[in-house]
Amino acid sequence: MSVLAMKINLNNFTLFLLLFFISCNSRQENNPEEERMVYLCESPRAYSFHFDSKCPALKKCSHTVSKTTASLAKKHRRRLCGWEANAGIIR
Ligand SMILES: [Zn+2]
Repeated sequence: MSVLAMKINLNNFTLFLLLFFISCNSRQENNPEEERMVYLCESPRAYSFHFDSKCPALKKCSHTVSKTTASLAKKHRRRLCGWEANAGIIR
């Protein structure tokens, strides 16, 4: 009888963990675009950011490439690279 009670408690705990992880995931999905990591070319003439580290436009960058979030990139007046916007790479 006591073994059965323990099993039920364990199941409740597993369920609690599962719900906890699900709520964490859904919180992340509320703001996926802004929190995504993007790549910036540190050139003074660069005006865009890239989701894809292998983007052909980013490969042309002869300066340092830095990594930041999309929201920060937008604050610095960067917009999504035209190549990626046209190619529909955004997932
Ligand atoms: Zn790009």
